[in-house]
Amino acid sequence: MTVAIVLFTADLRVHDHPPLRAALSSSDEVVPLFVHDAAIEAAGFAAPNRRAFLSDCLTDLDEALRDRGGRLVVRSGSTTEEVCRVAGEVDAHEVHMAAGVSRFALLREARLRQALASAGRRLRVHDAVTTVLPPGEVTPAGRDHFAVFTPYFRRWSQVFPRSPLAAPGAVRVPSDVASEDLLSRRSVTGVSEGLATGGETEGRKRVTAWWRACLAAYEDRHDDLAGDATSRLSPHLHFGTLSPAELVHRARKAGGAGAEAFVRQLCWRDFHHQVLAARPTAAVADYRPQHDRWRSGRAASQEIAAWKEGRTGYPVVDAAMRQLSHEGWMHNRGRLLAASFLTKTLYVDWRIGARHFLDLLVDGDIANNQLNWQWMAGTGTDSRPNRVLNPVLQGKRYDPDGAYVRRWVPELDGIAGAAVHEPWKLPAPERARYDYPDPVVSLAEGRDRFQRARGRAD
Ligand SMILES: Cc1cc2nc3c(=O)[nH]c(=O)nc-3n(C[C@H](O)[C@H](O)[C@H](O)COP(=O)(O)OP(=O)(O)OC[C@H]3O[C@@H](n4cnc5c(N)ncnc54)[C@H](O)[C@@H]3O)c2cc1C
Repeated sequence: MTVAIVLFTADLRVHDHPPLRAALSSSDEVVPLFVHDAAIEAAGFAAPNRRAFLSDCLTDLDEALRDRGGRLVVRSGSTTEEVCRVAGEVDAHEVHMAAGVSRFALLREARLRQALASAGRRLRVHDAVTTVLPPGEVTPAGRDHFAVFTPYFRRWSQVFPRSPLAAPGAVRVPSDVASEDLLSRRSVTGVSEGLATGGETEGRKRVTAWWRACLAAYEDRHDDLAGDATSRLSPHLHFGTLSPAELVHRARKAGGAGAEAFVRQLCWRDFHHQVLAARPTAAVADYRPQHDRWRSGRAASQEIAAWKEGRTGYPVVDAAMRQLSHEGWMHNRGRLLAASFLTKTLYVDWRIGARHFLDLLVDGDIANNQLNWQWMAGTGTDSRPNRVLNPVLQGKRYDPDGAYVRRWVPELDGIAGAAVHEPWKLPAPERARYDYPDPVVSLAEGRDRFQRARGRAD
C-alpha cells in the first residue's frame, strides 16, 4: 500500500488540481494536508479578513473531499516539521505541492525538500497551479523575467496553458491520521462586516453568475466604480479556490472583447508573479529605485491616518478606503487612486500603504499587492513612473454620477451628481451642512512637491 501527501497551500480546490491528481495516480492512498504555518502568523500575514476567508475555504475543501470519500487533515506549526511528522505516521513515499513564488514559499519548498530527502522521501512540486504559466516559462532573450507588461503579454498570449483537469471522483485517505478541528470563522475577530464568503463552491458559483451577467461587457465596464462589474474573483485566485488556467481556458472558449480583456487582467497577475519570482526582494525593496526621501514626521503621520480612515477630503479616495475597511476588498480603480494619492500627492512611502492594504485585503497577496503599489509609486514596472492621478478628474470620469462616493461616504449623500467630487466648491452655507473634512492638501501643492522630489515632470 503506497501513501502520498498532498500539501495544500494557495490552491484550496479539487477541480484542476495537478498535485492531487498526480498523487492519486501514483499512490493507493492520499493524505490531503493543510498546515497553519506559525511563521505566517509571526510575519503578521494572517490578517483577520484572510483568516476568515481561509476558514470558509478549508471547510469547503474538507466537504469536497468528504463527498469523494476522503477528508482534509489539518495541523499547526512549522510546515516542514508537520509534513515530515505526517509523512512518518503514514510512511508516505512522496509529497506533492504547488510551486510558489514568494521568498517564503521558495524557502518552505527548499526546506521541505531537504527534510523529506533525509528521510528517503521525495517532494514533487507542480507548476502552473497558482498561475496560468509558471514564472520563467516565457522570458526575453538573455534575461530571467519581463520587466514590462506589454511584451510579456504578447509572448504569454502565444503559449496555450495546460488543459484543466477534472475533479477526482474518489479520494482514499488512511483512516488513522489525526487532524485538528477546522478553523472556525466565528473564532476570528476583527473581520470586515461586508467580507465575502470563501471556498471553491462559492468561487465556482461566482464565476458562473458573473460570466453570464458581466463578462461580455467587462472591457467597457471594468473601470466603472459604481457599476461594480468586475469579477471579484481575486480572493478566490489568491487562495486558489479557482484555477487561473481553467479561467483562461473558459474565457478563451467564450471569446469576445470582454473575455479578452479579462484574460489580459489574469496576465497581469502572472506578470507580477514572474517579477517577484525573479526578484524576491521587490516585496520590500524598490524594484527601480527613484532615490525617494519619502515624507515622515507629524504632518505626514496625520495625513496617513486621514487616508486610512477615509477622511482625506477627496471623496473618491475616501470612498475607496472605506470600501476597503467595510469589505476587505476594493475596486481596482479605487486601489489605483488611493495608492497614487498616498505615494504621490502625499509623497508617503509605498510600503506604508502596502502594509495597510495587506492588513485588510482579503485578496492581499505579496506579488500583486507589493508590485501594484510599486507600479503606482513609480518604483516598479510602470513606464511612466511620475504620473499622478488627479482624484477629482478620475472621480468624474469613473464615477460620473457620484454614486460610488455617495454609497461609501454617506455624509455626502445630499450632494447630487458629479458635484459630490468637489464639496469644497459648494456655496459656504451648503458646504457647512456636511460633516466632511476639507482636503488635507491641495492637489497642486501635492503635485509640485512630488515633481520637485523626483526632479522632473512626466
Ligand atoms: C495598489 C494596488 C494594490 C493591489 N493589491 C492586490 C492584491 O493584494 N491582490 C490582488 O489580487 N490584486 C491586487 N491588486 C490588483 C487589482 O486591483 C485586483 O486584482 C482587482 O481589483 C481584483 O478585483 P476583481 O477580481 O474584480 O478583478 P477583475 O477586474 O475581475 O480581474 C480579474 C482578475 O485579474 C487579476 N488582476 C486584475 N488586475 C490586476 C492587477 N493590476 N495586478 C494583478 N492582477 C490583476 C486579479 O486576479 C483579478 O481577480 C492591486 C492593485 C493596486 C493598484
